[in-house]
Amino acid sequence: MDLAAFEKRIESGGRLEADEALWLYRNAPTYWLGRMADGVRRRKHPDNLVTYIIDRNVNYTNVCVARCNFCAFYREVGADGGYVLGFEEIFKKIEETQALGGVQLLMQGGHNPDLPLAWYEDLFRAVKTRFPDFKLHALSPPEVLHISRMSKLSPREVIDRLIAAGLDSVPGGGAEILVDRVRKLLNCFNKASADEWLDVMRHAHQAGLRTTATMMYGTVETDEERLEHMLRLRALQDETGGFTAFIAWSYQPEHTERGGNEATGIEYLRTLAIARLVLDNFDNLQASWVTQGGKVGQLSLAFGANDMGSVMIEENVVRAAGASYCMDEVEIVRNVEDAGFAAKRRNMHYDILGDPYFREHEIARMLELSTAREAGDTSVPAELVNYPARSAAGKKQRSGPASPVS
Ligand code: SF4
Repeated sequence: MDLAAFEKRIESGGRLEADEALWLYRNAPTYWLGRMADGVRRRKHPDNLVTYIIDRNVNYTNVCVARCNFCAFYREVGADGGYVLGFEEIFKKIEETQALGGVQLLMQGGHNPDLPLAWYEDLFRAVKTRFPDFKLHALSPPEVLHISRMSKLSPREVIDRLIAAGLDSVPGGGAEILVDRVRKLLNCFNKASADEWLDVMRHAHQAGLRTTATMMYGTVETDEERLEHMLRLRALQDETGGFTAFIAWSYQPEHTERGGNEATGIEYLRTLAIARLVLDNFDNLQASWVTQGGKVGQLSLAFGANDMGSVMIEENVVRAAGASYCMDEVEIVRNVEDAGFAAKRRNMHYDILGDPYFREHEIARMLELSTAREAGDTSVPAELVNYPARSAAGKKQRSGPASPVS
């Protein structure tokens, strides 16, 4: 295959086929992939802006029955260290987020058998009552499927109920690699097959929501399977146009059952660049600085990324697997501007909200990402007794009087 011919095609907006993308991913020089991806990024974003969002990753529970073997975050039902956040704790996190200029929560959690659909609906309604303009980017497709199975409602019905309660957007988590051979090896096939993940996103898009798409690479998948993942996302995007952005990150192995090594920085940049070339119908690619660190995160802006993702404020999942990079808004903006771009705040739809918040407001520097809970906090939220538990441990914990839901 001929790089000059590819260059011509990519520059004229032509589409790459699977075998071509695979050849480039394996054989093209890294600088060439970066130059091509940067060219596509420039054509899609000629304004020289790099965006980011101020939000907070809140993991409402770490209790999970899925047991993915790449995950260091979850606790089994009834195990020490398992938690469910209370509504008041979540409200407090929203207030702290707003004080830093934040506009949404990214809310994801474990597949907790003791949280029925009504818990999510009550929480979303309570958030919207207290914080009407605040957005909920919440519940990845496997969580929607988990709720659907527990409630015996279809994923479409669950999405409709959640939208009625206040859901604004669905995060693209739980995609890992959208190939069932890989999903079986990672023990995440039962939580969602590739088709099921894509179907939830299809329903969400048809219901009018915009969502993101992710890829976790670097476990057992082949190069072909990474490309298959991207091509399946590209096909759904052709069909619905509902994805706002694509985010790739490397598997974080520490403390996981699977173990192994993490992919290198060059592998990340090559993967990001080929994603920019393959996902020609995605407008936005995020830099995953939280897994790659600030320096590779900044370099991502020369390899196809146009967005620095989230300021984050809080992170629990990749930290559990050993990655603990922190960049507050000041640091993100410094990296963006030093790379030659103007930094702008955005919302979940990638509408520009304005200039960096810290330039217009007094805010505290954030030198460490917050966690879901202080270490050693084993408190049980009062309102949980309102919701029927399914597990023996949950039933025992909830045998008390019901509390009013605010
Ligand atoms: S990745 Fe999510 S679904 Fe899988 S074990 Fe961890 S918390 Fe559960």
